[in-house]
Amino acid sequence: MESQSGSDALKSLLKDFEKDILRAQKEQMEEYMTGFHVKSDVPCGDRKPFVIITVPHAKCTAGIEKHSCDYYAAESARILSSKLNADEIDNIVLEGDKNRFDIDLNRVESKDTEFHFILNGLIRQNSDRNILLIDMHSGRFKENDSPFVPFHQPITLGNQIADTIATEFKSNIPEGSIDNFVVNKVMSWDVPAILIEVNEEKDVSLEQFSQLRDIIVDYMDDYCTVKKGGNK
Ligand SMILES: [Zn+2]
Repeated sequence: MESQSGSDALKSLLKDFEKDILRAQKEQMEEYMTGFHVKSDVPCGDRKPFVIITVPHAKCTAGIEKHSCDYYAAESARILSSKLNADEIDNIVLEGDKNRFDIDLNRVESKDTEFHFILNGLIRQNSDRNILLIDMHSGRFKENDSPFVPFHQPITLGNQIADTIATEFKSNIPEGSIDNFVVNKVMSWDVPAILIEVNEEKDVSLEQFSQLRDIIVDYMDDYCTVKKGGNK
């Protein structure tokens, strides 16, 4: 009995601790998000599309048993990039150079790293284009038959394309949170973004990457009308 209540106390302590961390991250995000917005004088319909594919968890660390990196994400980003190239959609892949156990490039704590410095520059330099950011991850989704698992986010600019991907691949759509720094940061700047997990439980085919590419191409074609994704 005693150890049971001891473990309950520990659990509740850990819960409080997690809440504190989440609150601190939320405050930092709110502070970070004020101020900057991507603006262009070029009318939306005259802008060229540009897709940024980020892979914040590309870097693995040998010898750590846990999921120390996103095993499929970097290769998936490169495949998607080549598919977009074949359709003449200009794009770039930005892979993280740090392991998430050293510093997590998808958390606000990493805002001053080179990865984010480059990402910020890419967005500022391409503000005369219609930018979509795809934040590529991978994980094990045993209960999900879909090759790609798109997430909804608190900042909802990318939720429309998430819905389209989920429908196409019959995936569910987990709720992301504000600590998904990459997508929520750029969406706070008015750039639509989506976090996609590639399902490590599946052998994702090149055909499925083509299907994903086609959804992105359609989205870029309709960018000026659907960009806001029902957000505002
Ligand atoms: Zn990840």
